[in-house]
Amino acid sequence: HAKEKGRGNYQFFTPALNKAAQRRLALTNSLRRALVRDEFEVHYQPQVDLESGQIISAEALLRWTKAGKHAVGCNEFITIAEETGLILQIGDWVLRQACRQLKQWHTLGHTDMAIAVNLSPRQFYQPNFHGRISDILDEAGLAPSSLDLEITEGVLMQRSDDNVSTLQHLSDMGIKLSVDDFGTGYSSLAYLQRFPVDALKIDRSFVSGIGQDRNDTTLVTAIIAMAHSLRLKVLAEGVETPEQIRFLLAQGCRSAQGYYYSVPVSAEVFTGMLRERARQAWQR
Ligand code: C2E
Ligand code: MG
Ligand code: MG
Ligand code: MG
Repeated sequence: HAKEKGRGNYQFFTPALNKAAQRRLALTNSLRRALVRDEFEVHYQPQVDLESGQIISAEALLRWTKAGKHAVGCNEFITIAEETGLILQIGDWVLRQACRQLKQWHTLGHTDMAIAVNLSPRQFYQPNFHGRISDILDEAGLAPSSLDLEITEGVLMQRSDDNVSTLQHLSDMGIKLSVDDFGTGYSSLAYLQRFPVDALKIDRSFVSGIGQDRNDTTLVTAIIAMAHSLRLKVLAEGVETPEQIRFLLAQGCRSAQGYYYSVPVSAEVFTGMLRERARQAWQR
């Protein structure tokens, strides 16, 4: 019986593994051509001031809208792009696109808006990364203070001299640095004092547990309190309910993003939302 079962498993798993490997290979090849074929789009999700209900910023989120036969989620193709190094060109494109878009919103009169862009560690480790950023900002005609770079805890944990100096350069230029998915990575908090970080983004996994899960609720409270005592800004990710917003406000968290306000939308739809919210802010 055992032998039968073993053979059965063998036959079951091999084609499945092959299928996964084949999909990966096909995706990698398509991804190599996606930029020149103009298959990407940047979508934007509002970041909202909880007290005023106004949009203060937008997070740029990459979408592979014309991936053809493969419908691919962000996490899947970003992982492949990181492994293959394609993230360098793609990330550069996102940065340029997002900065150009913000400039357009400024021109339309939304002059206080900022833009947040996700950074892969590989982009960050490029030589003279701050110089590249400076060129992109100049090209778009934007002040460095309107750019918020979202880095991961991993980047902060790698304590090389290059790393420290890149962060310091970016900070000295006036660029904002946010720690994305805060609380999900390494748990050393020492880096928060050592590096010129401006804000923490509380991971959605904790925010979704507010009022539901005692541990999540306690963690969110603790992260907000810690951010305040370290004089860091704090933004809650993945806010979906008014209860979560009430709780966050009561804890002194000033900003949030999430489906409660809006899913990530195209630049065009976002422009309409900005116009609308300039007239009437979101109610609490
Ligand atoms: P992230 O930076 O933490 O972005 C937040 C993710 O949560 C986004 O998923 C967003 O659509 C989703 N989200 C926001 N609010 C809610 C909510 O209320 N409920 C739920 N269920 N989800 C919500 P998305 O767009 O699929 O992106 C996934 C990840 O891919 C991002 O996580 C980021 O790490 C990465 N990513 C996206 N664009 C880029 C990029 O241009 N460059 C790099 N390096 N990474 C990117
Ligand atoms: Mg992010
Ligand atoms: Mg996040
Ligand atoms: Mg994430």
